[in-house]
Amino acid sequence: MGVREGFEELYGAVPEGVWAAPGRVNLIGEYTDFNEGFVMPLALPHTAVAAVSRRADRVLRLHSADIEGPVVELDIEALVPLSDTGWAAYPAGVVWALGQAGHVVGGADLHLASTVPTGAGLSSSAALEVVTALALNDLYELGLTGPELARLAQRAENDFVGVPCGIMDQTASACCTEGHALHLDCRDLSIRQVPFDLAAQGLELLVVDSRVKHALGDGAYAERRAGCEEGARQLGVSHLRDVPYTGLDAALARLSDERVRRYVRHVVSDDHRVEQVIALLDAGDVRAIGPVLTEGHVSLRDDLRISCPELDLVVATANAAGALGARMTGGGFGGSAVVLVESADVDTVTKAVAEAFAAAGYTAPRVFPAVPSAGARRLV
Ligand code: ADP
Ligand code: MG
Repeated sequence: MGVREGFEELYGAVPEGVWAAPGRVNLIGEYTDFNEGFVMPLALPHTAVAAVSRRADRVLRLHSADIEGPVVELDIEALVPLSDTGWAAYPAGVVWALGQAGHVVGGADLHLASTVPTGAGLSSSAALEVVTALALNDLYELGLTGPELARLAQRAENDFVGVPCGIMDQTASACCTEGHALHLDCRDLSIRQVPFDLAAQGLELLVVDSRVKHALGDGAYAERRAGCEEGARQLGVSHLRDVPYTGLDAALARLSDERVRRYVRHVVSDDHRVEQVIALLDAGDVRAIGPVLTEGHVSLRDDLRISCPELDLVVATANAAGALGARMTGGGFGGSAVVLVESADVDTVTKAVAEAFAAAGYTAPRVFPAVPSAGARRLV
């Protein structure tokens, strides 16, 4: 049953509209966002789809086809940040964030379903937030732009749900376009669409979901972040973004702490890799980004140290089986990897990774193509 039919069955009326917002995967630029550097995500074909109608009162009714349970009913006036309402905190948080920013939104009935895998590092949460934000923007004629909706969605996740994420996920979901990756400058939040038409080149970008999430990752984000801040402090810059790649060796020589040196080397070199990838894509040389992706993985594995045996196995096996390049993507310690591969080699590489996982006794990975897809949009 589609979301329209689901909506009618739940609420007894036809929805005013249907909207979609995608999950995302990051091509290159990891742990660079909070250093005010560069990231380069693309939207996935997987989307959260929401059927929504306005209400005359100040009530929110929220339902997900993917979650067992009744309709969640909330009073907009009584929304309290960090009050645990489970999954409904994501769409409710968007309504709260809109209100905090002074936008007038009334009640709404919402029913959604999503094909974005949850917890695989593909940002099912941002898809949920952005689809809600776009639907309300259209229905209540708020006139907000994609980047503005992304900021509000991030605010919902940071302050209402209580998850300290950067701006990449929501910006990707709101602003990506088909056949492109999105270059996002995390300092001024400017964006640029970079051509990334894989099909025209006879290429595929595979997402390999390792199906693991190691508990080790719990405090690691904060630790890496603190280490980067320490590096910036010792180098006398506000953020590591300000350390030029050409001055990296000189900067490293000024750092006494081996751990901080590794973190700085990762961040500054990954910002540089984003610029390399952009130059190659602008020149139409898509295959040449493969080795840059693999260098990015080595940096995440050896310098930032946020990879894990499963992700390392994906990258090593895929490259040995003929992939053009591969890297882990996202926060690390599990989640997914991206693999750039000739279309003709997809089956060989997929099979090699599956066999390597079986031989190692790991849960079978989930593999699918990351077709660079459209950002959030109205469907009906
Ligand atoms: P991800 O990396 O997928 O964004 P998060 O932990 O940030 O992982 O977000 C996952 C959470 O988002 C889920 O636990 C759930 O609360 C919510 N969510 C995602 N998809 C759905 C859905 N289809 N229906 C309801 N809630 C969802
Ligand atoms: Mg998330």
